[in-house]
Amino acid sequence: MVALSNSSEDACLVINAGSSSLKFCVFQSGNKGGGSAAEIEPVVTGQISGIGTAPRFEAKDAARHKIADHSWAAGENPGRPELLHHLLDWIGDTLKGATLVAAGHRVVHGGTRFSAPVRVTPAVLDQLEELIPLAPLHEPHNIAAMRALAQVYPSLPQVACFDTAFHQTQPWQSQTFAIPRELTAEGIRRYGFHGLSYEYIAHRLPQVAPELADAHVVVCHLGSGASLCAMRGGHSVDTTMGFTALDGVPMGTRPGAIDPGVLIYLMREKGYGADELEKLLYHKSGMLGVSGVSNDMRDLESSDLPAAAEAVELFCHNVAKQVAALAGSMGGLDAVVFTAGVGENSTLVRARVAEKLSWLGVSIDPAANRAKATRISAQESRVPVFIIPTDEERMIARHTLGVIAAAQLDRAA
Ligand code: AMP
Repeated sequence: MVALSNSSEDACLVINAGSSSLKFCVFQSGNKGGGSAAEIEPVVTGQISGIGTAPRFEAKDAARHKIADHSWAAGENPGRPELLHHLLDWIGDTLKGATLVAAGHRVVHGGTRFSAPVRVTPAVLDQLEELIPLAPLHEPHNIAAMRALAQVYPSLPQVACFDTAFHQTQPWQSQTFAIPRELTAEGIRRYGFHGLSYEYIAHRLPQVAPELADAHVVVCHLGSGASLCAMRGGHSVDTTMGFTALDGVPMGTRPGAIDPGVLIYLMREKGYGADELEKLLYHKSGMLGVSGVSNDMRDLESSDLPAAAEAVELFCHNVAKQVAALAGSMGGLDAVVFTAGVGENSTLVRARVAEKLSWLGVSIDPAANRAKATRISAQESRVPVFIIPTDEERMIARHTLGVIAAAQLDRAA
């Protein structure tokens, strides 16, 4: 178990729990007492994969060197509490002298109740259980990790950080479907996701370009899940994902926006039930469905198959279309930011999207784009274009330490 005393440095564990895997990252701060979120840096990252089948624990140090790789013997199948116990013991052994002051969790859905990070309590966990129907593929695993950690290490403060929270500033018309009001009142509305990523970009962009602090910005979070966010002055005004993480642009295995009539057709004419629709929409569509070969942009870009090129084209077409739609939604476009796996790494996708937006005054410098410079727009571009690597884990660690510090201040007052 991690030492809670005699330690020299505060550490914050960040957890991103999925159905069969748990990604983790430990941030360490030079400040004693957990009182500040300043100057935190990741010291180890890793994951536990194969939860429920054949668990494997892997970790890397800050220089990305592998420092742990452990699989359990056949027949042994430790559950979440045992695996978290292993993780905490390992952190204690590896980061000797560190004080683990808190754990922060990425939680996909905060509903309408949670508009900011919150200290995890039994009551909060019960409230989060009520949100499971809104995110059945993610929320149960987020909750399971918080419950397991509370069981293993009850005195460790835990903080839930929500992917939906950043979008709570959106105006009513961005959050509302045109459906009967009683359904909206039940919570059937647009929530938006990737909020921790957008929040990080909202903090980072003014450091990179101070003149854009109050600007109309479209951030393109293009990863295996993808969405775009319209931001004004660092606040979310509109976004492409809605009630679930299915809406918006095509993704690795999700179609993005699809005429709901298609789903009625599939149910009525082809006998699809909810489970089959879920499989189709979450796992078989998007880049994988269109290309027939892969959900990974790297594979598609290096493939000679016409269907792979078509998938990339369909992706870029829809991203460009949504940049324009979001500019319309917020009434202006002063900058475009690319982030996440595809946005940060794919020269081709950025170039194609920019080409399609040339009528809006977007033009990128091919050399800067290839070099993955921070500012990739051409001199003459009316709209500056940036690549800003996202850092959701850092955002969670900052929030977590902030919540703990605020609680300490409250107690001291
Ligand atoms: P993320 O979900 O943000 O981790 O993004 C993961 C996705 O980024 C992968 O599935 C790839 O499709 C994409 N990706 C990562 N590296 C590259 C690259 N060098 N070129 C194109 N796509 C990439």
